[in-house]
Amino acid sequence: MTEILANPPIDRTVAAMRWRVAGWRQASERVALVPTMGALHEGHLTLVKAAREKALRVVVSIFVNPAQFAPNEDFAAYPRTEDSDLAALSGLGVDAVFAPNVEEIYPAGFVTAITVGGPSEGLETSFRPHFFGGVATVIAKLFIACAPDAAIFGEKDYQQLLVIRRMAADLSLPVEVIGHATIREADGLALSSRNAYLTPAERATAPALNKALVRAGSAIRAGAPVARVLSAASLDLKAAGFRVDYVELRNAETLAPVVDFKTEKLRLLVAAWLGKTRLIDNIAV
Ligand code: AMP
Repeated sequence: MTEILANPPIDRTVAAMRWRVAGWRQASERVALVPTMGALHEGHLTLVKAAREKALRVVVSIFVNPAQFAPNEDFAAYPRTEDSDLAALSGLGVDAVFAPNVEEIYPAGFVTAITVGGPSEGLETSFRPHFFGGVATVIAKLFIACAPDAAIFGEKDYQQLLVIRRMAADLSLPVEVIGHATIREADGLALSSRNAYLTPAERATAPALNKALVRAGSAIRAGAPVARVLSAASLDLKAAGFRVDYVELRNAETLAPVVDFKTEKLRLLVAAWLGKTRLIDNIAV
């Protein structure tokens, strides 16, 4: 065991982060990374605890990545709560926080991007076409800066998890990409930094998103026709006050459209708006 630091040190530059990790790696200490955009909640903290079980050294990155927000999205408004994030991480056995500023990650003249096909096709990409290019590029940079042996991602962002896993495999990055189950409120709502945007009335409606998924998942398992189940779920969500981007059933390992409902592993994914807040969720079927 290493000493648990009450307040983990913060590295603001790639060079400082690399230097710190290099020391650990030289001592053959395994390193796990938990990438986040801050505004930490119990979902993130659960990933941190899982990371500690996977490696002797844990790095949490906090970086609100402008490249994954379109100009009309909430980059400027996204909650930035570094002081309370650091307080939330204290005592959890985090060995370092990597919290660079935008110029450190995207210096003047930056023009490189990583494009991932396969699992990035459709779903989020149909509504946020810029999104996975920004995610893949920043995660590749975080992997290079932090040189982790493993990185933990939440299944809450299931398509993101598969895109990162595909990218790591395709680029032969020596990082094990580990998924962790979604952490939920007691009423089923997946924890999300964006839940803070919900008005009290919207918060009261929000659990209907997970309920619609669970109901649709049971109907599909029971053999109901998939197209009918998905359109019923969409109508239920609209009736509850959501604006639905998609409700789709995909192959759980590739996110390709399902060819054989009987033999493939299935994942049901949804994205829908409540007022100005976009929520996503997914379940295994
Ligand atoms: P974010 O800060 O929203 O970019 O999320 C950082 C990481 O935490 C991602 O891997 C997310 O999938 C994960 N995460 C966010 N919310 C949850 C949740 N409710 N349960 C599990 N993981 C989560």
